[in-house]
Amino acid sequence: MQTHSATDLLEIIKQQLCEQTNRPKYELLIRPLAAVSYEDDVLVISAANDMNRKWVLEQFGEIIIELTELITGRRASLEVVSGREGGIESPSSFSGMQHTDNGIEIPSAGTEQDEVVHRAQTTKPLLNPHYTFNEFVVGANNQFCYNACWQVAQRPGQSYNPMFLYGGVGLGKTHLMHAIGHEVWSSRRADNVVYVTSEKFTNDFIEHVRTGQRMSEFHRRYRQADVLLIDDIQFLSGKSETQSEFFHTFMELVEAGKQIIISSDRPPRTLKGMEERLISRFGMGLVADIADPSLETRVAILRQKARQEKVNLPDEVCYFIADRVTSNIRELEGALTRLLAFSDFSSSPPTIEFAARVLADILDTSGIRREVSMRQIINAVCEYFNISDSLLLSSNRSKRVALARMIAMYFAREFTNLTLSQIGSELGNRDHSTVSHGASKITAEIVEDPYIEQAISQISRMLK
Ligand code: ADP
Ligand code: MG
Repeated sequence: MQTHSATDLLEIIKQQLCEQTNRPKYELLIRPLAAVSYEDDVLVISAANDMNRKWVLEQFGEIIIELTELITGRRASLEVVSGREGGIESPSSFSGMQHTDNGIEIPSAGTEQDEVVHRAQTTKPLLNPHYTFNEFVVGANNQFCYNACWQVAQRPGQSYNPMFLYGGVGLGKTHLMHAIGHEVWSSRRADNVVYVTSEKFTNDFIEHVRTGQRMSEFHRRYRQADVLLIDDIQFLSGKSETQSEFFHTFMELVEAGKQIIISSDRPPRTLKGMEERLISRFGMGLVADIADPSLETRVAILRQKARQEKVNLPDEVCYFIADRVTSNIRELEGALTRLLAFSDFSSSPPTIEFAARVLADILDTSGIRREVSMRQIINAVCEYFNISDSLLLSSNRSKRVALARMIAMYFAREFTNLTLSQIGSELGNRDHSTVSHGASKITAEIVEDPYIEQAISQISRMLK
């Protein structure tokens, strides 16, 4: 059985050759190479044109075979074809060429080269193999987001564009993005799937600017995506040049009907230090959130994970953990992993007593609510609503500021032992009845108003 795809193989070979070859030669001959097939130990690649084909064979034939054998551990042979006869599998790029050629008889060398380069980029995206739709447990908290992601993966570029998903840490945003990537890639609905964190996007951009590399290189990486998945967009806050670069990437892709999926830890409007034109575009398609998972969902996730690990986890242990890790699925999994590892090492069955012992320092088994200071509450609320604390404490009565203030009252009631009057004086000299009224208004509206619910759960998380 062949375990290497032609594309993966060629990618590794190119990396090796890149280090061994001078730059102009690499750019001219190696980079444009595209993988055609790797079957029965024969690697078939295509060069941009016939001339290049000869040069590649003469100058690199031996070493490519050597590298192939090194990588696969098998004897190998090599065939190099030229772009035209390459049997390159991408129908989309060929039809693209017909369009550009409209009325022009001879395709320019540039067009041909670009096409091969484009194809060469079509490597399997780097995605976590476990982050699939299949392994995602659907609950009331994520059902809507899950459905939307599934839709997008079925018809990339045609349903919701962009798709913006947000939610707190460890709730499955990255998992869903990878799931979309797997789905569009394996169904071949997209050839070029690019997953990138906005941090990596930023670093890539800075690196290209700093080293004076051609921006065309950077553009090729991102602007030729059929599906661009950009994770944790909040990282772009305050980075105006990268934002501007991302804006142009965004516009180019959307205009070409390519799919963009963005994740964030908060909704578009509450992103700080983000250009208005970006925020407004983020909301143009579909915005979907993942809320905190219910107890049932948390239990279902633990059960699935236990099944995957092929261990029999008693229900009462599932509930014991799920009761205590409430808002972060990564931590939920972490607790289970630790329990299973300890149970394995010590050959003890994972009972409740055993779980309580090995998880004591990560689970909140004390039942004591942690005290939070008024200062921390004010900071978190201001950060979430993107307002200054002097505005929060002022007499400004705009809707947003008034809401932020009431939410601060709510948290002060819930998480501190301050009296109503003390809270009032901390919040810009308001009297006790204002505080009491504000806090109960929020308590009543949490269940009704998803916007408030989201704010509360985000701010709680910030306070933890
Ligand atoms: P985020 O990107 O929102 O911080 P991740 O996608 O990294 O969160 O999820 C954290 C961990 O929890 C991952 O291992 C992921 O597989 C798992 N996870 C999150 N939500 C679910 C779910 N609904 N079903 C199964 N696993 C989940
Ligand atoms: Mg993530």
